[in-house]
Amino acid sequence: MPVESVNKRRAESCPESLRRESSDFRDHISTADKEGRRKWLYPHQPRGRFYRARTALTWLLLVFMFGGPFVKIHGNPLLMINIVERKFSVLGVIFWPQDNLVFALGFLLFLMGIAVFTAAFGRLWCGWTCPQTVMMEMVFRKIEYLIEGSATEQKALRRAPWSASKLAKKTTKHSIFFALSFIIGNTLLAYIIGIDALKTIITDNPSRHLSGLTFMALFAVVFYALFARFREQACTFICPYGRFQSTLLDENTIVVAYDYKRGEQRGRLRRDETREQRSSRAAGDCIDCFKCVTVCPTGIDIRNGTQMECVNCTACIDACDQVMTKIGRPRGLIRFASLNGIEKGEPVRVTPRIIAYCLILLALSAGLVTLLLTRSDVDVTLLRAPGALFQSTPEGRISNLYLLKMTNKSRREMPVELRLENIDGGLTVLGGELNLPAEKQSEASVLVEIAPEKLASGNTPVKVGVYSAGKRLQTIKTIFIGPRR
Ligand code: SF4
Ligand code: SF4
Repeated sequence: MPVESVNKRRAESCPESLRRESSDFRDHISTADKEGRRKWLYPHQPRGRFYRARTALTWLLLVFMFGGPFVKIHGNPLLMINIVERKFSVLGVIFWPQDNLVFALGFLLFLMGIAVFTAAFGRLWCGWTCPQTVMMEMVFRKIEYLIEGSATEQKALRRAPWSASKLAKKTTKHSIFFALSFIIGNTLLAYIIGIDALKTIITDNPSRHLSGLTFMALFAVVFYALFARFREQACTFICPYGRFQSTLLDENTIVVAYDYKRGEQRGRLRRDETREQRSSRAAGDCIDCFKCVTVCPTGIDIRNGTQMECVNCTACIDACDQVMTKIGRPRGLIRFASLNGIEKGEPVRVTPRIIAYCLILLALSAGLVTLLLTRSDVDVTLLRAPGALFQSTPEGRISNLYLLKMTNKSRREMPVELRLENIDGGLTVLGGELNLPAEKQSEASVLVEIAPEKLASGNTPVKVGVYSAGKRLQTIKTIFIGPRR
């Protein structure tokens, strides 16, 4: 069930007061006023068990993110997406554009993985592991708290006239932000071109690496703009996953949710009011303190139901749990729960949809594993040299020139030999023997000579066998052009 339907169902089963508020929040997004002007958010720093768990996870992710480019397996990067050279490394295994089926299946697997995960756990990825949220909320935001103080102090600083102290704070913050953005940009560059190429750009004569240095500067500026200015809008405006998720959530998806049955009617705590007095006026557990709203990094009120802007960061859970503990009520007014869990008290269950997704996921994984296990060590293409026609040799034979492109996907050097398979003739690799270096691509020109009487008129299909250590690795089909008779 799409998120809109889930919300509609939640709103319909809610008391009238909540329904009124539910419709209001749809009129404008939380980070813009009614005229569409940006509303700068000052989320309070959360405190609690989920925030502590996120902090611990963040350290792990940061080590992984920034250490990744330095890790090599069999001399290859752990992860490298070199679009420029069209060379990719995953867990130290090099992939080439010829592995397009592996990429296609890998991509499908990735999408299906997201679908299964989102259908089961909502946007847990966004709040806990997405690099944008991790860097924004757990690194840049913490630096901001450290330099400019709490959310309230930040607001006051913004309103305050310019002074030496304000200038010092702002300069320090933005200098650190820019330095961090530069490091992030360089790390991304290392994932694209590899750490060795990045080191060369940094240490070599700058005039030889103008494009590399331009990208370095560009990435730094983009990340600075993202984390210093654009912030949560990357999640609410740009990220397609936020929109995509609305098609994946249903009433059994576990999301960060407000238990409106327990919370409504919300109402302020009255001085000296006992629990019994509060119950007698049908007041729920929500004391309308807005603590859950003030910590939200996307500025929404989770009490309005599941919203596209919610990144499942759990800050509101921590905030509300603290309030509940203070007023002597059980924690979990806001918690991880499904709509059915809140509405009907149903336990978490694996739905047929999730089972179907998992089966597809399994089938795709099996396909990918099979492809990886049966991936050939060498990939060879033989194309006629562009613009070249046939030639007659002094011995009266007909010759054709070909361009040979080879990719050695294995980790060892490979001597390769080519043989004509279906026709007698001569095959010469111009430039000597073929020795394919490990995990490299190479090219060579190949001259094929065939006696005219062996040829058909015009085009003759030719098969060329690719051998290494006497074992045929591949057979290539091509066309040999001869005179028309
Ligand atoms: S923090 Fe809890 S009690 Fe306070 S407004 Fe939010 S849901 Fe209600
Ligand atoms: S509503 Fe709660 S979980 Fe969702 S983004 Fe805001 S604070 Fe995070």
